[in-house]
Amino acid sequence: MTLDVAWAVDWVRRSAQTVIEHRDELIELDRQIGDGDHGENMTRGFTAVVAKLDALEAPLADIGEVLKLVATTLMSTVGGAAGPLYGTAYLRAAKATGVPELDSQGVVALLEAALEGIVARGKATTGEKTMVDAWTPATEAAVAAADSGASPADVLSAAADAAHEGAEATIPLVATKGRASYLGERSAGHLDPGARSTELILRAAAQAAQ
Ligand code: ADP
Ligand code: MG
Ligand code: MG
Repeated sequence: MTLDVAWAVDWVRRSAQTVIEHRDELIELDRQIGDGDHGENMTRGFTAVVAKLDALEAPLADIGEVLKLVATTLMSTVGGAAGPLYGTAYLRAAKATGVPELDSQGVVALLEAALEGIVARGKATTGEKTMVDAWTPATEAAVAAADSGASPADVLSAAADAAHEGAEATIPLVATKGRASYLGERSAGHLDPGARSTELILRAAAQAAQ
């Protein structure tokens, strides 16, 4: 089993749907340790992505083209930290998926490239209470699943499960990157909004692959 451009389009549409559904939760999480705009930023970005997909005159040829459209749209419409971070993630992922269909190792390559993009852009490592704390265990779980022979859908499910655990594990952490770091010790006790949106996006990827 492999994933093709139809999966990528479905992933993007499901991402938009779940981000919109969780808009208020993401706003509330960001209100606790940031400036309360993460749900709005992500909703604006993914709404714009879907509008661009809907307006296409010809279908996009491959997964890389879909991810590139997401990257450029998020960069130009999402204000704040998350826009360039997710934008770079999708851009790197697009470059890593220059093949028509993804097998399990192709999915791993996509996730690894996205994580590398986020780290290159944000300079955060694990334990700093950012989206990196969801992306890193997700990528590790994907590697382990793919190496044990899991299908692309199961690789993505493992990644989404690990992103969930990683997001929950940000609660006790003290933020040392991004806006939440301004709170110092007072950032502990709250879940990082970007880690939650990462979990939502990876769950959407897994569901699109079912
Ligand atoms: P802003 O903080 O500019 O308002 P958002 O609220 O949209 O932007 O996004 C905040 C999220 O961005 C945080 O929850 C965190 O996950 C992520 N983030 C912020 N700075 C970094 C960084 N340097 N590296 C990785 N992720 C970061
Ligand atoms: Mg914010
Ligand atoms: Mg902001």
